[in-house]
Amino acid sequence: MLLQKTRQLARGAILGRASRLLAVASPQTLCKMWSLFEKISSHPNDRREARRFRWLIEQGHPFGKWLQRISAELNPRARAAFVRNIYGHAWFLSRGRRAQFERQHGFEAPHIIVIDVTARCNLKCDGCWAALYDRKTDLPYDLLERAITEAEEQMGIHFFVFSGGEPTVRQDLYALYEAHPGSQFQLYTNGMLIDDQMAAEFGRLGNVMPMVSIEGDRAVTDARRGQGAYDRVMQAMGNLRRHGVLFGFSVTATSGNWGVIMTDQFIQQMIACGCLYGWYFQYIPVGRNPSIELMVTPQQREHLRKRIYYLRNNYPIFVVDFWNDGPEVQGCIAGGRRYFHINNNGDIEPCVFCHFAVDNIRTTTLADALKHPFFRAIREEIPYDGNLLRPCMLIDRPWVFRQHAAKYGARPTHSGAESLLTTLAEGLDQRANQWASIADKCWAARDHMGLYPYPPGDAPAAPAPGVGYQRVASA
Ligand code: SF4
Repeated sequence: MLLQKTRQLARGAILGRASRLLAVASPQTLCKMWSLFEKISSHPNDRREARRFRWLIEQGHPFGKWLQRISAELNPRARAAFVRNIYGHAWFLSRGRRAQFERQHGFEAPHIIVIDVTARCNLKCDGCWAALYDRKTDLPYDLLERAITEAEEQMGIHFFVFSGGEPTVRQDLYALYEAHPGSQFQLYTNGMLIDDQMAAEFGRLGNVMPMVSIEGDRAVTDARRGQGAYDRVMQAMGNLRRHGVLFGFSVTATSGNWGVIMTDQFIQQMIACGCLYGWYFQYIPVGRNPSIELMVTPQQREHLRKRIYYLRNNYPIFVVDFWNDGPEVQGCIAGGRRYFHINNNGDIEPCVFCHFAVDNIRTTTLADALKHPFFRAIREEIPYDGNLLRPCMLIDRPWVFRQHAAKYGARPTHSGAESLLTTLAEGLDQRANQWASIADKCWAARDHMGLYPYPPGDAPAAPAPGVGYQRVASA
């Protein structure tokens, strides 16, 4: 008991020191912050990341300037939550719980859960991936609370992504955010409802992190989301910025907007609006009117792959591409390897784009759902032949998911979801093979970049083909 109390005090002191160093945010204090994280982290991967971040700051890399923006633009509560919930928990506060889970169940717990808290939405965007879920059902508060508590207490998960539908239609969730100050809640939102009052509340809470959807410039945003949507996104970002909230943008790359969303002008504008993060998705043909033609072509995808690396190594903003950054996270993160998805009906799905399930949180625990052979099989086949530029079992290797679905009897979680296995299968296979002809050459030539460069000689080795990550024990 005494030992536990002493540990808690020591951890609190470390987090306090890290927050103070971030508040000053000179290159020297930021380097000290990462040295502190390196010293207290027990996992070799975390220590390597801390060295990487410190080295980037020493080199004058935009990553250091991004941290300076975090320091200058966030209010103190949001800044403290950033240190505690994003880095503190992942790197040392929750290590004990995670190790215990792994000992008990024989595999590593995921880091993130994406939850559709509702399917209600105030917009009707073309190609919406969630449009065909039952629109009337919200995930009940008590089920949500139970899942969050189980994830925190048994798995050491402290990062929850709320999606939908439009998560900000649920006013009852303020109480949930407040009840879990040690977790970060990232909301994927169209921003239309984020007025000054809501932004002030997010600022007061500190642990809510909206990602506001945008399609590119005014013309493409209004075309997909409706007239006036672009101006309202700008207003939402202005409100969030004024209240010192940690927020960013999210954008879906399609064959229509791919040329706009990674330009210097676009990213400069997002930074000027106060975005500290940017999440790039590629359109996947699930949901409303699925269309292979709306997907980026393999050539467009290759352009996006090169651009994402350029953008984050030239601008003070943290941007990620959900597919092309496969090498950074050693491949697909679905099936609980790093994350999984719960829809508004409580169905437990491997990934937000994979609308198939074998379990529901009403009838099972999260740990048991992750142990189901369907989820195990998904995790254990990653990273397939080892090419991390082709990480996805839905669009890069669609035959893999078809086999899993058939073998384990995964059921579609809304009508039309099965088209991924049927009417769309041929088109997906063609796209996958076309992408493979580019990606395999790049992989063979070692033309693949991670998030940021590593100090010379400190980069991790690429994984061996066929090594399932869940079978590699954590240190
Ligand atoms: S299945 Fe595809 S979209 Fe889902 S996490 Fe894996 S790589 Fe990403």
